[in-house]
Amino acid sequence: MSSAGCIYVDMDDVIGQTARTFAKVFEKEFGRKVDLEEIESFDLGISLGLSPESLDEFMKSVHRAEVLAEIEPMEGAIEALAAWVESGYEVAVVTGRPPETEAVSRQWLAERKVPHHSLTFLDKYSWSDDLFSGSRAVSMAELTQRSFRLVVEDSAEVAKRLAGLLDAPVALLDRPWNRSSPKPEDEFAGRIFRCRDWQDLCERFSRP
Ligand SMILES: [Mg+2]
Repeated sequence: MSSAGCIYVDMDDVIGQTARTFAKVFEKEFGRKVDLEEIESFDLGISLGLSPESLDEFMKSVHRAEVLAEIEPMEGAIEALAAWVESGYEVAVVTGRPPETEAVSRQWLAERKVPHHSLTFLDKYSWSDDLFSGSRAVSMAELTQRSFRLVVEDSAEVAKRLAGLLDAPVALLDRPWNRSSPKPEDEFAGRIFRCRDWQDLCERFSRP
């Protein structure tokens, strides 16, 4: 590990504009246009009004390689990661995608020239075996063996769990689906820092 330490950076809706791509797929395959601001819950079953069966169908559809390959980088993300690497930090991309998306995910990071040192598949969402087969992801407990200087997430639920498990501040990128959480009274809420965008995040955590 480099001397400055390691920074955990989520992939979807942190490095890439995943929700925007998912909304396009939703419109094309489910025939309904959805604005990003309408996605007020991280649970797409709730935000898109899908039954469990339709949600499974949608999740399979959006995790196809050709869909994931299309995702555009988030404004400011690549520059921010480059600045951390330049300052001696190790960038660990930690994704909750199913491990079977590894090839397309690695290819995307390479093609988009995303500065990073590693890619970890973390069991954030407990995907059911019926939905995604494939190799096992790293558990939250296993992740605690590693040391991070900062965590960058867009899922409020994952942010809260990591704030409790890891000895690192958690930067939560402001997105429509994380605005109602964490609440000030939530456990570990004091360790979670909402950032407007990557520029705000960089200014606050240039040397985490
Ligand atoms: Mg994410």
